[in-house]
Amino acid sequence: MPSHDVLIIGAGLAGQRAALSAAEAGASVAIVSKVHPVRSHSVAAAGGINAALNPEDSWESHAFDTVKGSDYLGDQDAIEIMAQEAPSEILYLEHIGVTFHRNESGHLGTRAFGGASAARTYYVADITGHAILHVLYEQLMKRSEQIDSYEEWFTTDLLLNDDGRCIGAICRDLRDGTLQVFNAKATILASGGCGQVYKPTTNGLIVTGDGIAQAYRIGAKLMDMEMVQYHPTTLAGNGLLITEGARGEGAWLLNAKGERFMEKYAPNKFELASRDVVSRAEQTEINEGRGFEDGTVALDITKVPRRRTLEALREIVNIGRDFAGVDITREPIHIKPGMHYIMGGVKTDADGQTTIPGLYAAGEVACVSVHGGNRLGANSLLDTLVFGRRSGHHAAIRAVQMTMPTTPTSRVTETERDIAAIMNREQGGRRIGAIKNELGETMNEYVAVFRDEAGLLKAHEIVRRLKEEAKTAAIDDRGSIFNQDVIGAIELGYMLDVAETIVVAALERKESRGAQWRLDFPGRNDEEWLKHIDISANGGDVPQVSYSPVTITRWQPEERTY
Ligand SMILES: Cc1cc2nc3c(=O)[nH]c(=O)nc-3n(C[C@H](O)[C@H](O)[C@H](O)COP(=O)(O)OP(=O)(O)OC[C@H]3O[C@@H](n4cnc5c(N)ncnc54)[C@H](O)[C@@H]3O)c2cc1C
Repeated sequence: MPSHDVLIIGAGLAGQRAALSAAEAGASVAIVSKVHPVRSHSVAAAGGINAALNPEDSWESHAFDTVKGSDYLGDQDAIEIMAQEAPSEILYLEHIGVTFHRNESGHLGTRAFGGASAARTYYVADITGHAILHVLYEQLMKRSEQIDSYEEWFTTDLLLNDDGRCIGAICRDLRDGTLQVFNAKATILASGGCGQVYKPTTNGLIVTGDGIAQAYRIGAKLMDMEMVQYHPTTLAGNGLLITEGARGEGAWLLNAKGERFMEKYAPNKFELASRDVVSRAEQTEINEGRGFEDGTVALDITKVPRRRTLEALREIVNIGRDFAGVDITREPIHIKPGMHYIMGGVKTDADGQTTIPGLYAAGEVACVSVHGGNRLGANSLLDTLVFGRRSGHHAAIRAVQMTMPTTPTSRVTETERDIAAIMNREQGGRRIGAIKNELGETMNEYVAVFRDEAGLLKAHEIVRRLKEEAKTAAIDDRGSIFNQDVIGAIELGYMLDVAETIVVAALERKESRGAQWRLDFPGRNDEEWLKHIDISANGGDVPQVSYSPVTITRWQPEERTY
């Protein structure tokens, strides 16, 4: 039975950074990932990572932009920490080998990103996540004496002892289907977001909200779950992302009449307003009949010099050509807002501690909350690294002073029984894929850029029905070797739980703030709603709602214009 000081579930940027920092603090570490670590979804991150490293910039300016971007729902103490620690994180990455772009004078160069008052996004062309993930993985291998990597192991359950402390997890080896208890003094969830709850989404098929649901099921509080980000530039139909880096380099948004419509909505920032503002502007143009027939508007990247596009945006040149048949260096490409990111997640403090003792969370699975109602582009990679490192360090320092907990191996029997029950379901129910599609399309219809009570109630009713249908959805593969069918059934359960918490939180917040735009409650209402919505299971069948205060340190809420 594997036993480690610190168990990390997830090997994207948050997980790998947590593992390195825990190992540096002297802990023995296990890192578990359902895919090979460099296939974690962080590999898709494109445009860059924010830090106020330039002497003319300041961490205060970065923090304020983030607070404003969050529509004043972000916790300012945590945002200050993130902005203050950002420069050293970039330098750490550079020193271990990340080949950040350098400008003509040989210094680290930046590009502009939305909602920022300075160009403070550091990048590696439009493959920033790929570049960082591979360099961190080298470091992980270098520390293999201290860090055991369990690649292609799937975590099914988090374990609690009788005192309600998290003491590890149960994981399934995907190669042969065996289950193992992983004992740990501290467990860090770094299992990413939940994009697949929506269809389409910019997120890959592996992003199924596992960690959010697992924490919720053992009683951890979730926070800001209503805050789901629609990215302004995704391809219609398949949801593929055209990075914000394109607008950072100078691309324009145009409606079907050829008008640069952002002038109306954000006269100072145009295309570089924050994402919630730009997505709403696009959706308004589309809804009011100024979009194209395919329900899109256009992104004109020909405004960027061709040479620069080929050098700094080469991935989206490929995406445009391969997935839309468009040469973006010569003609505009049709785009629309698409689901991209969840600001909410497992509620943590600035050291990653959740409301369950012994359980930490970092990265997109977590809600610190540094993004509040709306995340600024290029602040997520920063969040994964800063809070991944802090969680790893805190967990390790605590863990090395504790004795190793043990879990009876009989605990595995319960999970074995659950998996056997899935395998033995009779054919005849709905297909897993059909339920998943209906879920994604429902969320994309009713819990999207614009919301209202009638739509949210409808979404809730559908999610509840799908939960029932999922109980009898049969699978075809009854084998043990790489049985992705059974994993798909388990992931569907996670997605349905996560979807319900999103819908319940969106119904609860009766105002418009950040990504939550309620047509029936237009306008921000600080008097009643300047607070977080916390969601927990509390043993009940329907998510329970409570509230917690927003931490304000130095920036009082004011009108938000761009
Ligand atoms: C297309 C795209 C482009 C983006 N570009 C940027 C950008 O330029 N800048 C920016 O700041 N942000 C960007 N983002 C957002 C950012 O990439 C993510 O928020 C971030 O990478 C999430 O990292 P993570 O470590 O939290 O999770 P992930 O990288 O998603 O890793 C999750 C890990 O958990 C593991 N896991 C999940 N469930 C289980 C389970 N049940 N058992 C075992 N392992 C499990 C996975 O295998 C994986 O290793 C982008 C997002 C997308 C989709």
